[in-house]
Amino acid sequence: MSPSTPLGTGESTLRADIVEVGRRMYARGYTASNDGNISVRLGADRLLMTPKSVCKGFMTPDMMCITDLDGRKLQGERDPSSEMLMHLEVYRQRADVQAVVHAHPPTATGFAVAGIPLDRAVLAEVLTTLGSIPIAEYATPSTSELPEAVRKYIKAHDGMLLANHGALTVGGDLFSAYYKMETIEHFAKISLVARLLGRENLISRDEVQRLQSLRGSYGIKAPAPICLDDVVADAACQVVQAPESSGARLVAAPSGTGPDGEIRLTYRELSQLIEDAVKSLR
Ligand SMILES: [Zn+2]
Repeated sequence: MSPSTPLGTGESTLRADIVEVGRRMYARGYTASNDGNISVRLGADRLLMTPKSVCKGFMTPDMMCITDLDGRKLQGERDPSSEMLMHLEVYRQRADVQAVVHAHPPTATGFAVAGIPLDRAVLAEVLTTLGSIPIAEYATPSTSELPEAVRKYIKAHDGMLLANHGALTVGGDLFSAYYKMETIEHFAKISLVARLLGRENLISRDEVQRLQSLRGSYGIKAPAPICLDDVVADAACQVVQAPESSGARLVAAPSGTGPDGEIRLTYRELSQLIEDAVKSLR
């Protein structure tokens, strides 16, 4: 950084914070090689953004680019991230968002590849913070298709999966956006283990409503309410899959048909089916 362009305290802190978040993402395996990108608002009309083609684990504060909200580079020796269009779209749609983080955390991305959204009522912490984590439709990375896919969900969600690609999180500051990425990957790992074990108890509808009311008392700012109506089509709220119950707060998830209509069986159920089929042949 040239000594003729001294950094304001805010800007130098944000540059250092981006370096730190990139280091954590790489150390935790959320990105490989040069994957992923990070940006923050720098005042009303400028963004500070990671450059393209650098490993996020080994960045230095001087590498960042400054762009305007239309993506024109204002400062920086390197070109801004190849996913800049997606970041610009988020800032355009969400005046409250101060930072955007994109990565490819392997377990969450596995759900994105399998086409399974993280929208079941399973963990109270996830329900109160992120609500549900939908999957934005597949789009060719770095093209204008990706911002279009993200636009559908970004008004109501602070985190989403990107089909066959990765995950995207946003927040009121950089660390809040980054921690949501950690929450998504952690939730994906827990969901995967529960499904491998062959049983998943879900939080009931009534309990989900109770958790939603806690958002206010904990001061959690959510962009949209949780919605328990599966029929909602416009993605204007956070659609969560939670079963009805007569008093019980945890209800065994029905195995069988998933939200996409695909039939899913536990290992135990599949073994029983095979056993029965073999018996009937005898
Ligand atoms: Zn990506």
